[in-house]
Amino acid sequence: MSHIAVLDQETINQIAAGEVIERPASVVKELIENAVDAKASTITAEIREGGIHLIRITDNGCGIAKEEVATAFLRHSTSKIRRVEDLLTVSSLGFRGEALSSIAAVAKVELLTKTRSSFTGVRYVIEGGKEKGCFEIGCPEGTTFLVRDLFYNLPARRKFLKTPTTEAGYVCELIERLAISHPEISFKFINNNKTVLHTSGNGNRKDAIYYIYGREIASQLLPVVWNEKGIQIEGFLGKPSISRSNRTYENYFINGRYIRSLLLYKTIEEAYQPYMMQHKYPFTVLSIAIDHAKIDVNVHPTKMELRFSEGDVVSHVVFTAIRETLLGHNLIPEVSLGLTSNLEPLETKETKNIDRVQESTDFVQQSLSLKPTALANQYRIIGQLFSTYWLIEVENQLWMIDQHAAHEKVLYEKTVKRLKEQKPLAQMLNPPVILSLSIREKEALLTYQTILEQLGFTIEPFGGKEYSVRSVPMDLFGLQGKEVLLEFIDTLVQEVPKEIDCSLKTSNLILERIASLSCKAAVKGNHRLSEPQAKALIDELMTLENPFHCPHGRPVIISMTKYEIEKKFKRVI
Ligand code: ADP
Ligand code: MG
Repeated sequence: MSHIAVLDQETINQIAAGEVIERPASVVKELIENAVDAKASTITAEIREGGIHLIRITDNGCGIAKEEVATAFLRHSTSKIRRVEDLLTVSSLGFRGEALSSIAAVAKVELLTKTRSSFTGVRYVIEGGKEKGCFEIGCPEGTTFLVRDLFYNLPARRKFLKTPTTEAGYVCELIERLAISHPEISFKFINNNKTVLHTSGNGNRKDAIYYIYGREIASQLLPVVWNEKGIQIEGFLGKPSISRSNRTYENYFINGRYIRSLLLYKTIEEAYQPYMMQHKYPFTVLSIAIDHAKIDVNVHPTKMELRFSEGDVVSHVVFTAIRETLLGHNLIPEVSLGLTSNLEPLETKETKNIDRVQESTDFVQQSLSLKPTALANQYRIIGQLFSTYWLIEVENQLWMIDQHAAHEKVLYEKTVKRLKEQKPLAQMLNPPVILSLSIREKEALLTYQTILEQLGFTIEPFGGKEYSVRSVPMDLFGLQGKEVLLEFIDTLVQEVPKEIDCSLKTSNLILERIASLSCKAAVKGNHRLSEPQAKALIDELMTLENPFHCPHGRPVIISMTKYEIEKKFKRVI
């Protein structure tokens, strides 16, 4: 073993920085929180290449005094606390004076700042923790941070960053949350020279929600005001009808800070549980004020995970506030026309050569009525077992076919085939369905536009945040309608793949989504099918290259040979 030695300051700072700065969004979060603490009323965040190349945060806050600029970049330098006890009384959460030193340790940083009382401002340059210069300059009151080339001196960490699009998505989501937690501040977010968000800062939280999430969500909100056991809750609850398929719409802030708490996620979901379908998550914006003594501030340095010293009290109060608010309102969903009632089979330009689909109210029939093949006479249907399985005799074998798995497989293969051959078959929606999309959803939509069109979607801008969906892929959307479409977009938002191949024919993500849509649209077990319906299904199944496994890998067909049966009856030995 080598000698024991104390690490040099640069290495110590880089290691410490690793805990605070994980990705561009962490830099943005720290710098915006500093701007909020500096009492800024307007904050601009600009990024290029997902923030890896450049992050600029400009505020009109109090600025940093010339003589304190260099100190601010030292580790554990802060103007916000002086002693450990202050951590409990400070009006904001978890200050450690580590952000600026950490950012400067892993990037090239330039700071422009001026206080009100000073005539001139300061330009300070620091790269990889080393001061490069300090100049007097003229600049407006407030502070601008320019952070370039994140992790330029730590290639191993840089490798762990995702694509610029994905990193930009994280930044965007963060800024959306910050804008909602501080409706009194006007936030502007510029991504690659394009302004993607600009809130008014008029102090009205509902306006901020409208701006960020769109009209549809803003029109489905229940105000909540609750005060119990020293905990004040104020904000909005989404009606259960605007449920989403992931947690990103559960917003909550503790004492004005955006934090993460498993306890709060769980509490919110439990309170909504009687009103929600399984695997659905609500929309909330809850501003929670808690006495600092009840919060364990000495948490992870990124200050995102939070612990409560009286977790059960907090959980109880949040639960009650939500439950009582939901109980006090009429939550019967407003009648909205599902897609089922307005389906029209349609031939698109590319699909002239595909048989016109018969109009039928029976969705199984409808989705299976494409031409049966010559295989029709190869087998004999014996009958349906337990309303779920079909027994058929095929040459020297007995096959048991799971009707759900079979239908799922057929829908999946048909859709993938149309996608590959670029022959989408679409169902017209009349009237079109109007979607309100958030900024991230909009980006996902644009990213996947080509593939969505190839699948049979026609989605067009409808002004502002709204998009009109004029057609959806045949077979897949007949039952669930708008819900499924939103869920589809939600998943796209979550997982933008590393490289987006424009044809996207082979994108696993898309294939996986088609599989899960097929599963939803397929006939369920415990459902009586008529023999002709079953025959149509089996006919189509037989034309597939691999009819034996559903897209999720479960078996579609189980077979038993005549020989095995004869062995069981001991006719042969
Ligand atoms: P902390 O925020 O935990 O105090 P930071 O490293 O983030 O630590 O910042 C160090 C100090 O620099 C802050 O305490 C504050 O005094 C000053 N500072 C940082 N950013 C700004 C800003 N945008 N405006 C005014 N002062 C700032
Ligand atoms: Mg800070």
